[in-house]
Amino acid sequence: MSAAPQTRASELRQLLNRAAHAYYVLDAPVMEDPVYDRLLRELQELEAAHPELAAPDSPTQRVGGAPAEGFTSVAHRIGLLSLDNAFTLEELEAWYGRLLKVLDRTPEPGAPLPQLAMVGELKIDGNALALSYEHGVLVRAATRGDGERGEEITANVRTIQSVPLRLQLQDPPAWVEVRGEALIPDGTFAAINTEREARGEPLFANPRNACAGTLRQLDPKVVAARRLDFFAYTLHLPDDWGAGAGDPARPTTQWESLQWLQAAGFRVNPNAELLPSLAAVEGFFAQWEEGRKTLPYATDGVVVKLNDLRLQADAGFTQKAPRWAIALKYAAEEAPSKLLRLACQVGRTGVITPVAEFEPVPLAGTTVSRATLHNADRLAELDLHAGDTIVVRKAGEIIPEVVRVLPELRPASATRLQLPHTCPECGSELVREEGEAATRCVNSSCPAILRGALRHWVSKGALDVDGLGSKLIEQLVDRGLVGSIADLYRLDAALLASLERMGARSAENLVAALASSKQQPWHRQLYGLGIHHVGEVNAKALAQAFPSVAELATAAADTPELITAVFGIGEQIAQSLQQWFATPANQRLLEQLETLGFSLAASAAERAASAGAGGGGASDRAAPLQGQAFVLTGTLPSLSRRQAQELIEAAGGKVTGSVSKKTSYVVAGAEAGSKLTKAEGLGVAVLDEAGLRDLLEQGTSM
Ligand code: NAD
Repeated sequence: MSAAPQTRASELRQLLNRAAHAYYVLDAPVMEDPVYDRLLRELQELEAAHPELAAPDSPTQRVGGAPAEGFTSVAHRIGLLSLDNAFTLEELEAWYGRLLKVLDRTPEPGAPLPQLAMVGELKIDGNALALSYEHGVLVRAATRGDGERGEEITANVRTIQSVPLRLQLQDPPAWVEVRGEALIPDGTFAAINTEREARGEPLFANPRNACAGTLRQLDPKVVAARRLDFFAYTLHLPDDWGAGAGDPARPTTQWESLQWLQAAGFRVNPNAELLPSLAAVEGFFAQWEEGRKTLPYATDGVVVKLNDLRLQADAGFTQKAPRWAIALKYAAEEAPSKLLRLACQVGRTGVITPVAEFEPVPLAGTTVSRATLHNADRLAELDLHAGDTIVVRKAGEIIPEVVRVLPELRPASATRLQLPHTCPECGSELVREEGEAATRCVNSSCPAILRGALRHWVSKGALDVDGLGSKLIEQLVDRGLVGSIADLYRLDAALLASLERMGARSAENLVAALASSKQQPWHRQLYGLGIHHVGEVNAKALAQAFPSVAELATAAADTPELITAVFGIGEQIAQSLQQWFATPANQRLLEQLETLGFSLAASAAERAASAGAGGGGASDRAAPLQGQAFVLTGTLPSLSRRQAQELIEAAGGKVTGSVSKKTSYVVAGAEAGSKLTKAEGLGVAVLDEAGLRDLLEQGTSM
């Protein structure tokens, strides 16, 4: 399936050159940075493995983009290079090994690794600037451009308050070259985009592009209004310069360079650290992974630089980057990958979910190789073809998804992927009803549906049967030993013991666990039936209002208005119940369960408890959160999600999975995700754990 290396390399070059132009010249990127980085890395590796493929126009051969028109282009006194990247600690260690090798310090086998002091700095996601001072006065400021020549933007840079116009030195050198990062703080970035939106102008993709666009403004007044900031990190001095009395001495290390820059009047990022060993570098990297989220500007990694300037000179440069420094990047939330296969899962309700299987990629801290494509519409919208290069995203705790396809890298004559017409499990014709997004297998004896129903029945929130995992269920269904939920209760220990990976002991335990599951409360039995739209919360509400299956079935058939009168239960659920109870196979299942000893009804104790929590004056105290809908997100300091949910439900509230205008409160903990953002957008009240506890207490003390 893989394209020939030559074709792939040439397609990658075209795509990356176009992306670099959009990014560096137009300030309007056409792809996500991590996707660019990964594809560039793929091209570098291809060119390294096939040196005959190297080409002078390859983006691997140059730094940045050509200077934009409209500005005078100036040659840099000292070239501005890029940085090599490491995406993992292994890559950092490999870089360190190469560094020791060029410095001729590789240890003998078995000897400890020599530890060279490094400086760890944050990798600020801004734009590199080259500042030239003559006799202490800022005479020129330029962008990095292609590393050799940049755009002259002195008037604009003069408006940046943290760039000194004159160095604070008694006796400045004839010239000084300073490099550093111009940036736009996050708050200013948001304000600029809000203004642009109001004027109908295209939005900047990120603060770095906004900063690049600002630096290239023709009117310095606009630049001044945008309040850019600048952190200095590199210093070049004439070889023969020595400090005069009262001035800081000539630095011999990167650490001293930062101090020199600070003394000369520059802002230096306060988070840099002198790191004595590779282990300390790794600690610094780990520390800022979380720490950077609290900074008011964007960072995408840390930069590690050899401290000793003489050793830096010995190590030298590759064509594009210094050998003595490396950018160690934080796990990306987006990455490209190659599609290997379109798989289809059949869920317990028969819904077919297309799933993309792709080459494994590290994303947001885990390795990902599968992502849901949701349904046939999403599949069509993505226009997925066999062998496509796709962009995959996983943000924090969110499930991985395929964001889009890079059609430029599509293999020639690739076929378009579609859902199959028949069920991949049982071969029956798939059905998609009008107006429905889902395509389904409607064969109720489809083994995939049966397996799903069994898994659901024994799951934690339902009958909670220990010792009946997916593999065992698969064996039971595939060997025809179980054809329905009820059949589980007819299994005997001897038969179970004869199955793969089962012993006499575990077989007996399982039979006992199944037997005791018959005592689970009515709402769990109802949830376990797996009726469409009847999740844990709805099952509890229904079980409370209808204390037996007979009452619920009668209401579903004859008086659906009694069902929709239950708090949180709508038309759709009533319809789904009506359909479920009207299906003969389900009626048979209920009869069999009753014969097997299931109550399918609330016990006396459950009835007494729910009578206490019902409507009316006295019960308001027991149910202070009656009628209120909660959404939980992030990690709470002391309560697990399940505990928080139980407290809310015990107080009469309801916990739902997604935020809407109807949500009364969002309870947010650490690393709350998109639900919190949505709540803020909709103006829904947000509580922390303490707030939730207050609310619960207020209710009970009323
Ligand atoms: P880079 O950003 O990976 O690293 C070099 C740059 O790091 C320096 O030029 C400097 O500006 C910056 N930097 C920040 N803090 C620093 C510090 N403390 N010390 C030294 N340097 C520091 O490499 P690059 O060559 O600028 O270009 C690659 C970047 O541009 C990548 O992030 C890439 O994703 C992005 N890019 C994106 C697209 C796209 O289409 N999205 C296209 C081209 C480039």
